[in-house]
Amino acid sequence: MSATQEIRFFNSMGRKLERFEPLEAGKVRLYACGPTVYNHPHIGNHRTFLFEDFLRRGLRFLGYEVEQVMNLTDIDDKTIRGAQQNGVSLDEFTATYVDSFFEDLDALHVERAEHYPRATEHLPEMIALVERLLERGYAYTSDGSVFFRIAADDDYGRLSGVDLDHVRRGERVAQDEYDKEDVRDFVLWKAAKEGEPTWDSPWGPGRPGWHLECSAMSMKYLGESFDLHCGGVDNMFPHHENEIAQSESATGKPFVHTWLHAEHLIVDGQKMSKSLGNQYTLKDLLARGAEPRALRYLFLATHYRQRLNFSFEALKAAGAALKRIDEMRFRLAHATETEAPHEDVEQAARRLTDDFTAAVADDLNSSAALGAVFQFVKEVNKAIEDGRLGHGDRQRAVDALARVDQVLGVLDPAAWQEAAGGHGDDEIERKVRERQEARERRDFAASDRLRDELQALGVLVEDTPQGPRWRRA
Ligand code: AMP
Ligand code: ZN
Repeated sequence: MSATQEIRFFNSMGRKLERFEPLEAGKVRLYACGPTVYNHPHIGNHRTFLFEDFLRRGLRFLGYEVEQVMNLTDIDDKTIRGAQQNGVSLDEFTATYVDSFFEDLDALHVERAEHYPRATEHLPEMIALVERLLERGYAYTSDGSVFFRIAADDDYGRLSGVDLDHVRRGERVAQDEYDKEDVRDFVLWKAAKEGEPTWDSPWGPGRPGWHLECSAMSMKYLGESFDLHCGGVDNMFPHHENEIAQSESATGKPFVHTWLHAEHLIVDGQKMSKSLGNQYTLKDLLARGAEPRALRYLFLATHYRQRLNFSFEALKAAGAALKRIDEMRFRLAHATETEAPHEDVEQAARRLTDDFTAAVADDLNSSAALGAVFQFVKEVNKAIEDGRLGHGDRQRAVDALARVDQVLGVLDPAAWQEAAGGHGDDEIERKVRERQEARERRDFAASDRLRDELQALGVLVEDTPQGPRWRRA
């Protein structure tokens, strides 16, 4: 598809919907704040990562080339504390969680970004950025640390609208463990502390502040001005505000064109927390039998700017919704195509592509995109019921779904291609066998469910002394 559809994004900078156009025609440069690798990612983190995946896939679907960077925060108070508590090196400590992060991405079918830079591998870039800020009078040193001078930055606070004069001096800001006690200035470089890993710098041994890491790594890979920067809403202040201050003060150029922030995920109506025991990781959910694609579906069903309330019932409902799409696959495989042509499926496929494209381009309206898929399923089912599946329609329907699944990533494309061939008897025989096995172990709930599923496919099962026999109704 060519990049002709007008895209609108809600830019957190200015808080309004805007037409989006990349700085370079046809190519989008995108930075997403990545995980702090001190723990297994929780499902809140994954909400944000999956929103970013939808953004990436959506832009590609709309015809853009995407260059995406996601950093791995491996130097920060939490990773350092973790390494100390476990008596291992920082690299050794973070390696487990870096692996865990990538395992989760694979399980969730998240498309890989082009770059995953780590803070530990970008010290020279960070030091160079601090030097530029010192040269330009935006930073000062103090006891081996370097601080950003907020008073020198006239438009600090543009993104979040924070009014620092109202933030009392000496008050700690949000959860940022790097901010100086005096909140008006924030730390760029922290002087070495006893027992902590340190790196050499012109100001003595120490380590970078978290905000600095993202400024240095984003500009290294994407240039001093780039298109999109995203994260969860908690990143907006102070993290992104400080990134803007550092980057723009150093370069004198606009840092980022459009800022996108995903609202938080909560669990059963409550904020996730260790003490409530509701801070689930993906691994926790998988251990309880969750289907990754159902989780993807659940996340997509809520627009990224709305709070997402996770519950196990909602996850179950997401799985059931996917099943409704799967059922169409079986129907399609078993339906016969007529010799005479019909326009129903072709029209439905065109509508799906149009509506889906419009939804993605409308500030990533993932719930409307799913709505378009369900409309399509309804229309194809109707065509099957009415005997209006024309020659080639099976493949046409499958192709239309496969196209939108490039963005959704919740269907099983290989299984659909099989359905397009119209060989569905294996599936029926498997279900008949499973029903028989369920009956033999007297699991009547399962056998009734399977009978209903078979009925939905237009298959009747008869139990004979020789075993079950099936035929099409
Ligand atoms: P962290 O590993 O804490 O640096 O967070 C990684 C990403 O997850 C950041 O973009 C955060 O904004 C995001 N995030 C953290 N908590 C949540 C949550 N409850 N819901 C959605 N996103 C979150
Ligand atoms: Zn960041």
